[in-house]
Amino acid sequence: MTQSRALAVTSLDLESRASAAFLGLAIGDAFGATVEFMTEREIAAQYGVHWNIVGGGWLRLKAGDITDDTQMSLVLARSLVKRGGFDAQDVADGFANWLKSGPLDVGNTCRRGIRRYMTHGTVEGPYSEGDGGNGAVMRVLPVALASFGRPEIGETWALAQGRITHHQEKSDAACVWFVRLIQQALLTPDKTVLRSLADRWIEEHPYFRYAAYTGPSSAYVVDTIRTVLCGFFETNTFEDCLIRVVNRGGDADTTGAMVGALAGALYGLDAIPKRWVKALQKEVREEIATITPKLLRLGVA
Ligand SMILES: [Mg+2]
Repeated sequence: MTQSRALAVTSLDLESRASAAFLGLAIGDAFGATVEFMTEREIAAQYGVHWNIVGGGWLRLKAGDITDDTQMSLVLARSLVKRGGFDAQDVADGFANWLKSGPLDVGNTCRRGIRRYMTHGTVEGPYSEGDGGNGAVMRVLPVALASFGRPEIGETWALAQGRITHHQEKSDAACVWFVRLIQQALLTPDKTVLRSLADRWIEEHPYFRYAAYTGPSSAYVVDTIRTVLCGFFETNTFEDCLIRVVNRGGDADTTGAMVGALAGALYGLDAIPKRWVKALQKEVREEIATITPKLLRLGVA
């Protein structure tokens, strides 16, 4: 990604796509949480097709409530804006305060990593094969926005934010690459370009192969990425993409959040169904609208 190519996208269009990415993340989270941990068959039996933001699920959410995916992304986003860039200690403090606030849902690896920080003050844990959950990549979107046009910084920040809670090769790879894919979608909203980027990446990391993927949509980062990419590349609208991915069940709030971010960046604000935008908590919608341009201003925009 070069600066001159970045400038080919107007700043207004970029800001709108970036807002759609953040809004898409929150919508995917709120939409998917209803069917988290259900199987495809259970969802079909209960909903036919799950297509609206209705709350409920194992967390007994109100319609439009978000979960840890969006909450941790907002913590990271607030810190990036407040500190004018990535500050691991400030982000970790934000995560610690969030954990102390008693969130409805916290992933096990996230909880362990945040507790380690609270006890030892370290912003990175030791390498662990067991840290292969999707908790680091699910919250990485703000880094993609804040480092737009500065790919080398994006990579450093993506890894550092992830390692506060997850230190594992596949989680690292997913964080770095998801930032790159989101940035490419913002820069060239063209699925052919994104597909060739994805295919080059798969050559280096064949375990993320996604074509015709029908395996588990679990919280294991490899399953999550494969589910997200398969749904993203095999549909053609924001709505179809989210419905397809979330109706696979499993870790549906996180797969929904991640594919929502990607689809938002590609398809833009106008493609997001109004019923989903209206259903989302108003304060979340408003914070995303305010914070997104501030994140972009940290990059080239
Ligand atoms: Mg969640």
